[in-house]
Amino acid sequence: NEALALHGIRKTYNPGKPTAVEVLRGIDLTLQTGEVVALVAPSGAGKSTLLHIAGLLDTPDEGQVILAGTDMTRLGDRARTIARRDLVGFVYQFHHLLPEFTALENVVLPQLAHGTPRRDAESRAMDLLDRVGVRPRAHHRPAQLSGGEQQRVAFCRALANAPRLLLADEPTGNLDPDTSDRVFAALMDLGRSTGLSALIATHNLALAARMDRVLRLDAGRVVPA
Ligand code: ADP
Ligand code: ADP
Repeated sequence: NEALALHGIRKTYNPGKPTAVEVLRGIDLTLQTGEVVALVAPSGAGKSTLLHIAGLLDTPDEGQVILAGTDMTRLGDRARTIARRDLVGFVYQFHHLLPEFTALENVVLPQLAHGTPRRDAESRAMDLLDRVGVRPRAHHRPAQLSGGEQQRVAFCRALANAPRLLLADEPTGNLDPDTSDRVFAALMDLGRSTGLSALIATHNLALAARMDRVLRLDAGRVVPA
């Protein structure tokens, strides 16, 4: 069963203008449940655009986005926002954690917004932090954590509401190689134990090689690497 299917996705910025950029020219891509797939591409190739479309933050000009069996391109804005909240987690190169809250609170807050009772949210947050090895730092604020710890907390936050799909844009891009290895290993463990599917854009070819599959974004299309 498929966590994500993209069919014939096309996207042009500034269509019809001299500044038009045809970024995606017919993307076909399927992610099975539990699959962790790397997306490698040079800067400017359209990785962020593709991740934003897959994660329902942006809409394609043409094509279908099917998440957990539902064609999201047929939904209205409101239904799509709800689907995004329930089904997708995002991680970026920089963690974007809320600086005035502890690691624990950063993982609890999205669950409260989702209607989870605080007690359950805290217990799930602690469990996630534990699994990536940052439970001892649960009551620290982001500035008190190392880069690797911050990024592991960001993964926990992305997974707080148990999404089907994790989308990550250069999640280890600002970490040293050892730290990015450890962060990535923690993510793989987490994915394996929860049946999560992930699409991870990265420039790190060594890291990509450890994922289930490696795809390239080339001239607006996705091809095997
Ligand atoms: P990547 O993440 O691979 O670096 P992006 O998806 O961010 O690539 O961008 C792909 C191309 O689309 C780039 O040439 C970029 O300049 C252009 N682009 C991205 N967003 C916009 C936008 N909002 N308006 C116009 N052009 C954009
Ligand atoms: P890692 O590479 O495993 O992510 P580091 O080697 O950078 O971690 O940091 C080692 C320890 O030092 C971590 O447990 C972290 O909590 C602590 N630490 C790092 N930076 C800071 C900081 N600015 N303030 C307080 N503690 C920190």
